[in-house]
Amino acid sequence: MPSYLIAILIRELNNVEIANGVHMLELDFRGHIINPTLLWDHEMAVLIDTGFPGQIEELRMTMKKVGVSLDMVKVVILTHQDIDHIGSLPEILQECGSNVQVYAHELDKPYIQGELPLLKDGHIKNPPKGRVDNTLIDGQELAFCGGIRVIHTPGHTPGHISLYLRRSKTLVAGDSMYSVNGKLEGIHEPTTPDVEEARLSLQKYQDDNIESVICYHGGLSKGRMNDQIRAL
Ligand SMILES: [Zn+2]
Repeated sequence: MPSYLIAILIRELNNVEIANGVHMLELDFRGHIINPTLLWDHEMAVLIDTGFPGQIEELRMTMKKVGVSLDMVKVVILTHQDIDHIGSLPEILQECGSNVQVYAHELDKPYIQGELPLLKDGHIKNPPKGRVDNTLIDGQELAFCGGIRVIHTPGHTPGHISLYLRRSKTLVAGDSMYSVNGKLEGIHEPTTPDVEEARLSLQKYQDDNIESVICYHGGLSKGRMNDQIRAL
């Protein structure tokens, strides 16, 4: 089989179903794979993080593969302000308008809205920006798609949040950790301005029974996740 076909097959397999109505998406940005998460039920879909600027078409195609159209997305949750997470928010808002509600932690909201320069990507010309309709706080419960618990996990950015998906016992870790080949590697220190705070944030994960972890960079890890996190 030609190698490009093998590559396509591998890519197809990486778009992972975690549970019924929970998918880890895969987007390719110049060879770097990033992993937004998509949840849905019969009423709506929730998109967690939006990829880099200009990835809306790729996002649309990836979502279509799992049978969810962009107009089903009623909620976008941003784990934090970095450009690879908020990049396609402007296009999503342009297309979905007031049909979509955007959620983020209040400490990252002014950066996402363009009131302050992005902490790490402030040098970029015309950075993406969009409105945040609802701010989230630590411990908040969202009633979407089986229930989502918000965990404020600062360190990577001040308003970084992680999301615990109750029904599937999945932790959407954002950039609080990264993984390689299914193994959690812990904090990505080069992109984490406050490593000490990030370490304290990881301790918060012990409150939940975690069966799967989705790292935005590195993808899915499964198994005895609480043990793996404790050992980091
Ligand atoms: Zn990132």
